[in-house]
Amino acid sequence: MKIRNPRTGKYDYELDEDRVKSIANKTLQIRDAQKAWNAQGVTKRVEVIQLWLESLKEYQPEIAKQLSIDTARKRISEVETGGALGLVQAWCYRAPQLLALPAERPSMSANTVTVQQQWIPYGVVGVISPWNFPLLLALIDTVPALMAGCSVLLKPSEVTPRFMDGLEKSIQAVPELAKVLKLVRGGADAGKAVVQNSDAICFTGSVPTGKKIGAACAERFIPAFLELGGKDPAIVLKDADLEVSTDAILRSCVGATGQACQSLERIYVDAVIYDDFVKEITAKASKVTMTVNPKKGQMGPLIFEGQAQKIQEQIDDAISKGAKVLTGGKVKEIEGGLWCEPTVLVNVDHTMKVMTEETFGPIIPIMAFTTVEEALKWANDSIYGLSASVFSTNKDKAIQIAGKIEVGAVSINDGSLTNKVYDAEKNSFKESGINGSRMGDAGFLRFFRKKALLIQSAHPETMMDFEEMSKD
Ligand code: NAD
Repeated sequence: MKIRNPRTGKYDYELDEDRVKSIANKTLQIRDAQKAWNAQGVTKRVEVIQLWLESLKEYQPEIAKQLSIDTARKRISEVETGGALGLVQAWCYRAPQLLALPAERPSMSANTVTVQQQWIPYGVVGVISPWNFPLLLALIDTVPALMAGCSVLLKPSEVTPRFMDGLEKSIQAVPELAKVLKLVRGGADAGKAVVQNSDAICFTGSVPTGKKIGAACAERFIPAFLELGGKDPAIVLKDADLEVSTDAILRSCVGATGQACQSLERIYVDAVIYDDFVKEITAKASKVTMTVNPKKGQMGPLIFEGQAQKIQEQIDDAISKGAKVLTGGKVKEIEGGLWCEPTVLVNVDHTMKVMTEETFGPIIPIMAFTTVEEALKWANDSIYGLSASVFSTNKDKAIQIAGKIEVGAVSINDGSLTNKVYDAEKNSFKESGINGSRMGDAGFLRFFRKKALLIQSAHPETMMDFEEMSKD
């Protein structure tokens, strides 16, 4: 597979795709090794993963460099590799605490029986990840699955595969880990083979692919943990701080060029402050600088060609239905890369794709509302239910409104806080995902099947206990 460089538009990297047979072979190897990996206990697993942490630190500059080519973002790639190391460290600390099983206890429903629990990890967990944060979203499920005692087949996105070279070296440096963690290279076909070979799937990606994977997992009767797309709304009340709300919303909409699942993508502002809000955010948006010179600027090019096309289509669709562009508005080709300036759109409504379909680009469409009920109606008028924001100087009021938005997490007086806070459990609503949360303790506990050992201390019931007693 020839891979496009998002900064130059050149196809300058070749991905050597894994074939179905090689994926099946890798699975056989890690399925076999998983038994010893699990049996040795969490303390030994932590020791191995800590060795990997050291190895990841050694390869961090190389991985960050590869990621920066994959995504055309230097600073974010450094933050991303730092975040991945933090994630590994956090699970090394937390997993042993969570594995402290409760002691044997009397049953509450059968008084001569005591109960013990065993937690049995899935054998092979398949992790399939997207291109927007290639390393972090590859490791976010992989690390707790390994800690739980599973082995992992990891297939990152074929759009941004360069970082796998550095990651592979970091894994090979720890032979004990290399026995239970294998990288799979390729696109949809390789992903399908991962689904066919695994005992549970963690998938991060789009809703259409998530639906296909969910159906394939249902066919095989294996769990699918699906973390999918979003169309996150922000509700800005009339008592919101203008500086806070415009700064946070701009950053959330256009940070990482809007290519984050939890980016805010539609903004509802109280009509009382609407004009001031629009003026302020447009002024700030038009000052955002692009990293055409890679050493300067705040926002990089679009990573995926197909996405660039979708973004332009959504802008054109909105304009054709009466939307007005206040700044930005065009995807441009510069030196082979595809760039989109922050784009503020007004006169928008829900007949336009930009208000209903995931954009995954730096677009800020803004509508005015006259009542909170109206804002809530629009916020909930979506197939998505990932996350949202509420802005108000009245925390209680904001919390009350947050409770009525049909999403898994709400940031109050900020945007996209789920990209910073990993310890708060959340479940996506509607088509944004399904099954155990990857956040909080559930991020680890979902990798176990709970087995009950039921221990009888009295003589067991005999058939004599079923003797009919009736005298009729
Ligand atoms: P995508 O669905 O196109 O691809 C994701 C992964 O699935 C890739 O590795 C791809 O090769 C693989 N794949 C494609 N078809 C497959 C199939 N039939 N079977 C198995 N695997 C298959 O998504 P994308 O474009 O890479 O990523 C962007 C999407 O990811 C956006 O919708 C974004 O919102 C979402 N996302 C969600 C979260 C979250 O936590 N909820 C985080 C980041 C991104």
